Amino acid sequence: MTVRAAERVDVVVLGLGPGGEEAAGRLAEAGLSVVGVEQRLLGGECPYWGCVPSKMMIRAANLLAEARRVDGLAGQATVRPDWAPVAARIRAEATDDWDDRVAVERFEGKGGRFVRGHGRLAGPGRVAVGEQVFQAGRAVVLATGTTAAVPPVPGLAGTPYWTNHEAIELPSLPESLVVLGGGAIGLELAQVFARFGVRVSVVEALDRLLAQEEPESGELARVALARDGVTVHSGVTVDRVGYGADGFTLTTPGAAAVRGRALLVATGRRTDLAALGVDTVGLDPAARAIAVDDRLRAGPGLWALGDVTGKGAFTHVSMYQAGIVVRDILGQDGPPADYRALPRVTFTDPEIGAVGLTEAQARERGLAVRVGHAQVPASARGWIHKAGNEGFVKLVADADRGVLVGATSAGPAGGEVLAGLAVAVHGQVPVDTLRHMIYAYPTFHRAIEDALRDLR
Ligand SMILES: Cc1cc2nc3c(=O)[nH]c(=O)nc-3n(C[C@H](O)[C@H](O)[C@H](O)COP(=O)(O)OP(=O)(O)OC[C@H]3O[C@@H](n4cnc5c(N)ncnc54)[C@H](O)[C@@H]3O)c2cc1C
Repeated sequence: MTVRAAERVDVVVLGLGPGGEEAAGRLAEAGLSVVGVEQRLLGGECPYWGCVPSKMMIRAANLLAEARRVDGLAGQATVRPDWAPVAARIRAEATDDWDDRVAVERFEGKGGRFVRGHGRLAGPGRVAVGEQVFQAGRAVVLATGTTAAVPPVPGLAGTPYWTNHEAIELPSLPESLVVLGGGAIGLELAQVFARFGVRVSVVEALDRLLAQEEPESGELARVALARDGVTVHSGVTVDRVGYGADGFTLTTPGAAAVRGRALLVATGRRTDLAALGVDTVGLDPAARAIAVDDRLRAGPGLWALGDVTGKGAFTHVSMYQAGIVVRDILGQDGPPADYRALPRVTFTDPEIGAVGLTEAQARERGLAVRVGHAQVPASARGWIHKAGNEGFVKLVADADRGVLVGATSAGPAGGEVLAGLAVAVHGQVPVDTLRHMIYAYPTFHRAIEDALRDLR
């Protein structure tokens, strides 16, 4: 292969997911010469195989669930699920048939230069994409995200299992599905498919679902999934995957095998730093994430943002970090990265929102922990809502400082209720102030006031 002489530019952004696209676009708009390198689709996982299409699926599945709640509250409804409009909407509206033409034009309209291909660091400030080599005078930004992590279970490799890509691109539904992994992505998709009539089993190695969140959140999800007909096997390790004419068979020591026509692997996300050539800039290619400081600097002239930094695999983290990277590269002032009030939402029904520390994390840090609970069904709005009203608010306070350090709001619109709690944690609003404000009646967020009263 002939390697051309390096072309001088100001900035190279490697990977154009939500954060990379944001940073590259803003730096180009600021007048820098910016090359954005993307090996797949400009926009990354979120619009094509993640947040956006999965939330369209969830919207459709929740409509079915709401229609099924009509009986006893508003008459009678007969529901006949049909996957075709969901698949069509994802194809036409979310992903443009997995075509990023519009996104490329938008980026180029901002003055950026788009290069499609696999980029690799080739020394400080230097990025190679095939035979093209760019020498960035100002910055290289690594924004290469993550891909689905596939566990080394014997028999799994080589079978036609799905990752989030196949699950999102699905033209029609299987009769049954096993979801390996009880985290947010696995549970959201499990509930969607169950609501469309697929027989779904979830297999999780840990005892708890949503293990990163409060135990109450995992329990709520388990109850909600059971109501939708999902069979949950937790605390179960799969020791072999078989695949044949009948589909998949997951064998587990000491328990019955779990079978399904299809298998979705949702056991987390992984980076591949070796493939990025990080060794050429003195970073560890075997690391799980790129270590960054609070300005997202990973080395001289080198920044990283998004999933690849390991600070939270969320689009909002990637976009937030992009803002800090852009300011730092442009030499503008602004606060450093602060993850104390990092919000997370699992978009199951009920929705499970959380911010900051869980109770266990707060105790591990040696804080003087006080917790307060309130049940949504016991609130006025929850009682009015009736069918589908499950949920709770849990507050975690640091009694020494008199502020909330974490909170969970689960229930109808739990992710929206979270906003007030995120402000409280981020702004370190005194608990006493929160106790003496007015909460609109009868909203779901009034459960926050009940939980504040319960803090002890
Ligand atoms: C099913 C699912 C649902 C999700 N739902 C939500 C949600 O509701 N809310 C939320 O906040 N987050 C959600 N996420 C997570 C969210 O999608 C990610 O956190 C987000 O996309 C990460 O953005 P990023 O900027 O790190 O890059 P990514 O979106 O991961 O994109 C990185 C890009 O870099 C490219 N790339 C990688 N290596 C190279 C290379 N060497 N050269 C060139 N290009 C390269 C990749 O092709 C990719 O396009 C979901 C994820 C999944 C899978």
